[in-house]
Amino acid sequence: LRRDPHEVEYIQSVQEVVHSLEPVLVKNAQYVHILERLLEPERMIVFRVPWVDDRGETHVNRGFRVQFSQALGPCRGGLRFHPSMNLSIAKFLAFEQTLKNALSPYKLGGAGGGSDFDPKGKSENEIMRFCQSFIDELYRYLGPDQDLPAEDIGVGPREMGYLFGQYRRLAGHFQGSFTGPKIFWSGSTLRTEATGYGLVFFARLILAEMNKELKGLRCVVSGAGKIAMHVLEKLLTCGAIPITISDSKGYLLDEDGFDYVKFSLLRDIKVQQRSLRDYLKSYTRAKYFEDAKPWNERCDIAFPCASQNEIDQPDALSLINSGCHIIVEGSNMPCTPQAIDVLRKAKVLIAPAKAANAGGVAAGEIDTNQEYNFMQWSAEDFESKLQETMKQTYERSLKAASDYGFMKENPEALVHGGNICAFLNLAQAMSDQGCV
Ligand code: NDP
Repeated sequence: LRRDPHEVEYIQSVQEVVHSLEPVLVKNAQYVHILERLLEPERMIVFRVPWVDDRGETHVNRGFRVQFSQALGPCRGGLRFHPSMNLSIAKFLAFEQTLKNALSPYKLGGAGGGSDFDPKGKSENEIMRFCQSFIDELYRYLGPDQDLPAEDIGVGPREMGYLFGQYRRLAGHFQGSFTGPKIFWSGSTLRTEATGYGLVFFARLILAEMNKELKGLRCVVSGAGKIAMHVLEKLLTCGAIPITISDSKGYLLDEDGFDYVKFSLLRDIKVQQRSLRDYLKSYTRAKYFEDAKPWNERCDIAFPCASQNEIDQPDALSLINSGCHIIVEGSNMPCTPQAIDVLRKAKVLIAPAKAANAGGVAAGEIDTNQEYNFMQWSAEDFESKLQETMKQTYERSLKAASDYGFMKENPEALVHGGNICAFLNLAQAMSDQGCV
């Protein structure tokens, strides 16, 4: 880490994990060397992405793919297209994904990446040309046994379609479709839904342990993208009361709670890329807050589903004051270290992203596993597979936590247990494979 002190996001994510691993490293000093090796990604690809806009002008963006570890299997992990994207964020996403995949019941390595390209305001053709140029360079490092990309911020079904189309053309085969939702080129029907639905299933497991259920609980959700909207949808199915969504411009509050009709309006607003403020035209009792985050609204559970570090110290204090006692992390690393300190002292239970947002890992496995490939999955079959994955991930986290003295009553048991279980799986594989 001393080599790259400017990589703040990556360093933050490593420090959180190392904090959890303290009892493991104390017990077995050889893990310190394995950890040192793990923290240097296996391969980092940084490349030029030239593309031509609709007026014929040339632009150049930077592409990233960090293939963090293949110790447990071929890499899987998201691509993010956002102007803030840089190597530090690519490394942090790849590191989190590596641990997430290692915690899951599947045998997968981890990767992350993307580009500083901003899809907002671009035409369909510009996005397609960008995706094709991105894959022109990256395709030689991809493949079912090597690395397959998935969705993240700014990359959804449309982008995955263009990326896969160009990959298939250059690779000369169809095998190993990217993890995406289009039934005609991959196996599972609910790929985009999986992460959001999985988050709600995970919240249900936590509540069941407390003999509680989601029904009637007030939920604050941030973001209005793929994860947030599917969290909202599944919360409605469970009888919870979601009251907010947000985007980079502000947040929308409906004190009466969203219902299916309101949800459908929200979905239309998002599809048409309109402002969340437009909701007020139909529901005048709702409120829109510009340049603000939803964390001071009275709630039982918070689902941060926008971006890293979206909850800072003042936000954590607001959440505590508004009655929140569980945070289910949809976004990767949503809390700053200062926020975590505050939440820890107030004993707010944290469901860490590595476990709670792992629904997409199950979908990816269904998409790419030879056994499942080309099978048509019904929504019911897929949901039951997803629920099983979330349950196994939850149980593996709690078991590792208890092995190292973090009892399930500890609000951070899932955080520490998830990190420990994932690291031990990786460490065992790395140790078995020698110094590679
Ligand atoms: P989308 O691009 O579909 O949506 C992102 C949403 O978050 C948008 O509403 C966006 O608002 C908002 N947002 C992004 N950055 C910020 C910011 N800095 N401040 C406030 N709002 C912001 O992304 P996803 O829903 O796919 O991803 C959301 C989170 O979930 C990310 O952290 C991602 O890493 C994580 N995740 C995603 C997975 C996936 O499969 N998609 C899997 C696991 C985790 P606006 O439109 O105004 O920019």
